[in-house]
Amino acid sequence: MGTGHGMTPRAWAGLTLGALVLLLVAATALLVPWHRPPAPRVDQLAALDELDPAEVARGRAFAAALRPGGYGALAVGLVVALLLGLTPLGAKLVSLVGRPFGDNWIAQAVLGGLAVVLVADLLTLPFAAWRHAVVARYGLSTQGWGGWTVDLLKSYAVSAVIGAVALLGFYTVTRLAPRWWWAFGAAGAAVLVTLLSFILPVLVEPIFNRFTPMEPGPLRTELMALADTDGVPVKDVLVADASRRTRAVNAYVSGFGPTRRIVVYDTLLREAPPAEVASVVAHELGHAKDRDVLTGTLTGALGAAAAVVALYLLGSSGALLRAAGVDSVAEPRAFPLLLALVTVAGLVAAPAQAWVSRQVEARADAHALALTGDPAAFEAMQRRLSSLNLADPDPPRWEYLYRASHPSTVERMAAARAYARGVGR
Ligand SMILES: [Zn+2]
Repeated sequence: MGTGHGMTPRAWAGLTLGALVLLLVAATALLVPWHRPPAPRVDQLAALDELDPAEVARGRAFAAALRPGGYGALAVGLVVALLLGLTPLGAKLVSLVGRPFGDNWIAQAVLGGLAVVLVADLLTLPFAAWRHAVVARYGLSTQGWGGWTVDLLKSYAVSAVIGAVALLGFYTVTRLAPRWWWAFGAAGAAVLVTLLSFILPVLVEPIFNRFTPMEPGPLRTELMALADTDGVPVKDVLVADASRRTRAVNAYVSGFGPTRRIVVYDTLLREAPPAEVASVVAHELGHAKDRDVLTGTLTGALGAAAAVVALYLLGSSGALLRAAGVDSVAEPRAFPLLLALVTVAGLVAAPAQAWVSRQVEARADAHALALTGDPAAFEAMQRRLSSLNLADPDPPRWEYLYRASHPSTVERMAAARAYARGVGR
C-alpha cells in the first residue's frame, strides 16, 4: 500500500466539499440578482393605505389562523427527526422493518427508510388536516375531505417512488464503494436533482391536474405575441383545472426550449381581465428568459452534492454514531441520523433560500413591468392576487425574512409605482 503520505478518502472529501461550496457561492453570486433593493417603504405604506382594510384584516386573520399549525408541524417534524436520528429509536425501526425479510439490506434500505419517513409524515398529518380545515373555512379551498385525502395519497405515492429509487441507489453505492461512496453519492444526488427538475413537471403535474390547450382567441393570441416580443419561444398556452381544489390564482411557465409552455390556472382566467393575465404571464416569461429554473437546478444540484459529502464527514463523528446506535453512517440503519441532519440543515438554510427566491421574484416583476409597460395593470393584478389568495399584504418582518418566497404585496405594488415614476420622468 501507500507510503502513508497519500491522501485519505476523508481528506479528499474535505477538499471536495470545499470546492463544491466555492462553486455554489460563485454560482449564487453570479446568477442571483444581489443588488435589487426593495421599493421605498414610503411607497409600500402608501400602497397599504389604499388597500381595503377589511381585506387586509382578512389576510392577517387567515395568516394568524394558519400560524399555530404551520409552526406546530415544523416543531413536531424537527423533534421526530431528532428523536429518530439522535437516539437508537430510528435504527431500531429500520431493523424491525427488515426483520421479516431476514434482515436483507435492500428491505432495510428501502422499506426501512420509507417507514422512517412515513412515521414523520403521519405524526405531522394532524397539522396538515388542520391546515386544510382552516383553508376550507376561509373559502380558499374548494376541495372536500375526500379530494384532499386523494391528493395526500397521491403525493405520498410520488414521494415513495422517488424515495425508493434514491434509497436503493444510495445504499447500493455505499455497499459497492465503502470508502468512496460519498463521491458517487454526491454525483448521484446532483444527477437526481437535475432529473427531477426536468421530469417532475412533465410526469407529476398531470397526476394532480388536467391541462387543456387554451382556446384560440384574443387572449391566447396576446399571450403568444407577448412571448414572441420577449424572445422566449413558447409551444402552447395551457389551462390547468386548478378550480377543482382552490380559489387561488396562479400561472407558470414550464419546460425548456421547444417544450416550453405557459400554464394558466382556470381560476385566473375567471377572475382577472386580460391585461392582468398578461401581466402575470409576463412575470413568468421573465423567469424563463432569465433561466431561473436552470439556476435553481444548478444551485440545487451543487447543494445536494455538497450535502452528501458533508453528511459523510459529519457522519464519521463518533458521538453522532453512538447517539444513533450505529457503527457507520453508510449503513441503512443510519438513515434516520442522515434525515435528522438534513432536517436541521433545511431549517437553518430556509431564510437564505427565501432571500434568494425573493430576489429572483423581484427581478421577474421588473421584467413584467418592462415587457408590458403597464404598471397600472401590474398593480391591479397584485391587489387581486393578494385578495384572492388571502395574502397578508404586509406580513410581520420576522416571518417575511424566514420564509417569504415572494416580495410582499405592498412591495410589489410599490415596485410598480417606482417603475411608473421612472417611465414618466
Ligand atoms: Zn415568479
